[in-house]
Amino acid sequence: MRRFLAAYGGGMEFCQLQLNYLDWTFQDARGKVELLAEYGIPVWVMEPLGGGRLADLPEESAARLQSLRPDEGIPAWAFRFLQTLPEVVVTLSGMSSPAQLEENIRTFSRERPLDGEEKKALLKVADGLLERRVLPCTACHYCISHCPRGLDIPSLLALYNEHSFSEGGFLAPMALSALPADKQPGACIGCRSCEAVCPQQIKISEAMADFAQKVQS
Ligand code: SF4
Ligand code: SF4
Repeated sequence: MRRFLAAYGGGMEFCQLQLNYLDWTFQDARGKVELLAEYGIPVWVMEPLGGGRLADLPEESAARLQSLRPDEGIPAWAFRFLQTLPEVVVTLSGMSSPAQLEENIRTFSRERPLDGEEKKALLKVADGLLERRVLPCTACHYCISHCPRGLDIPSLLALYNEHSFSEGGFLAPMALSALPADKQPGACIGCRSCEAVCPQQIKISEAMADFAQKVQS
């Protein structure tokens, strides 16, 4: 994205990003928004509810938010998070019923950005959602020099996490298609020498095999 903006940023009127409070750290949406701000490029948001997952939170997460604001709908939390970002000028939200349309109109009829306490609570909810669903790779890079196939393991695991969490979105297959075959998850030979040095004890070989199978099917 940095290279693209250096080449073409001067001609861009806006940039459409996958942006929501979960992807704020998970997909480094924050870094992307900050980079666009350097170029003065406004943001159009897609997937504000993470494909609908942020409209229907697990009971415990929803209860945490409702204890702060009992009258607030769960989707409104995600939209109000976006209202805290001055770079966002358009939010594209898929709606499948008149009730959802009415709820969204209610939410956007006035600006109500999250306050500090609300934002903290929401990002904590995001951490909880991710802990349950993704591999805890910290991108420390210890494993890379141990891979006989020269795989960029942390980047592949980041894509794997995205693919698992989004239950098969298009981003990971698109990113993998830009890699040569010998750098894809299917190139892993299962030697597990990466696992011997991973401080997070991630079963990397299993993740690579699962990822290869998922993107093929
Ligand atoms: S198990 Fe796969 S990813 Fe890990 S070192 Fe061996 S080839 Fe590389
Ligand atoms: S060693 Fe483990 S935590 Fe570190 S980058 Fe590799 S997989 Fe991720």
